[in-house]
Amino acid sequence: MPMVIVLAGLLVAQPFLYIKKLGNHTYHIATDNPRLTAVRCQIKSDSDIIIGSIYMPFNDNSVRHYDDFLSVIGVMQGLVNKFYSCNFIFGGDFNTSKLSATRTHNLLNNFCRKNNLLWLDPDITGIDYTYHNDNLGSYSLTDYFLCSPKLVTSSTANQISEHGENTSDHLAIMCKFACKVRADDLKLNECVAKLSWEKANLEMYKSVVSKTLADINLPLDALLCTDSDCQSHTDMLNLYYTSILHGLNTSATQCVPSVKVGLQKFCWTPELDELKQQCTDIPTLWASVSRPRSGSINEKRLQCKYRYKQAIKTAMQENDSLFNDKLYDHLCQKDKVSFWKAWQKRFCVNKIKPTNTLNGKTGAGNILSEFTNYYKDTVLGPFCRLPAASPGGG
Ligand SMILES: [Zn+2]
Repeated sequence: MPMVIVLAGLLVAQPFLYIKKLGNHTYHIATDNPRLTAVRCQIKSDSDIIIGSIYMPFNDNSVRHYDDFLSVIGVMQGLVNKFYSCNFIFGGDFNTSKLSATRTHNLLNNFCRKNNLLWLDPDITGIDYTYHNDNLGSYSLTDYFLCSPKLVTSSTANQISEHGENTSDHLAIMCKFACKVRADDLKLNECVAKLSWEKANLEMYKSVVSKTLADINLPLDALLCTDSDCQSHTDMLNLYYTSILHGLNTSATQCVPSVKVGLQKFCWTPELDELKQQCTDIPTLWASVSRPRSGSINEKRLQCKYRYKQAIKTAMQENDSLFNDKLYDHLCQKDKVSFWKAWQKRFCVNKIKPTNTLNGKTGAGNILSEFTNYYKDTVLGPFCRLPAASPGGG
């Protein structure tokens, strides 16, 4: 089955890439360079795949830019050397174009040639850029995938997708890679959904659930049976039980909206839904008139995007201040239980397993001391050391 990788809007300095379905078989690889994040996917029936997410420095024509670029290439080369038996996928914002022979282009091109990697071309259907700054009228194609030839059937492989919901100044790129991922490599039930009873139509639920339950026949014979270990009536009772369960589940699906756990980070409002819908619709209209850079449709498109971006920002800020107020109230009332409950709900992610390796150290004891050393320096900082650790400090 093919593996689909989407890199969308790599705005932050350390893009995070995580394949949820392969979560049980994916391990983080320390790179010691914030511009390259890498994971190793262990695939039972094929070679492992190293996936690296790249954010190359912005080209300001300085010597520093070239050196930074070179150091990321160095880290990529280190990965290729270390994991020589694996296949590779590098993707992200390379901040260089495949079409112009600049110094950084040559560095990347040589890296690909030397290591027998393909620099994939996007399948251009209308959009020939991935970075866009509409205010400055600047458009360029700087997001790419590099990969081992075994993983693709053609070097024109990745798609540039234009989704109105994407508020980044980079468009998403997507590619299907061929690898022999078997069903037992995949984590099942990875999308846990939760019913939002507070948004349910309870009147409708009541009527649907009573009708559904009324249609289930009561196994009277089984209830009146006095034999011990009676197999036929045990089966009948099991069937009765599963019918009730099925009835309750289908009624809930009909009347209660469900949300994916972990996705509702802040209060999503109907206004945001409307703005999101406008942002999703307008690119189709814009594309149908050949994507003009001026005129009323383009203006409306940019306005929609701006308003959506602003509305998300405001919603997040309001959510933050609401959360702070709540914590403050709990503190004032000395309600420790509610305080920590609210804290955990916001900052602690369920189901995260502790890592087996940290900065190359393994074993619970070593990881613990690595963690302590890191936070001792980070949290206390040079000006807040304990007197014993820094006798002259003040
Ligand atoms: Zn019986």
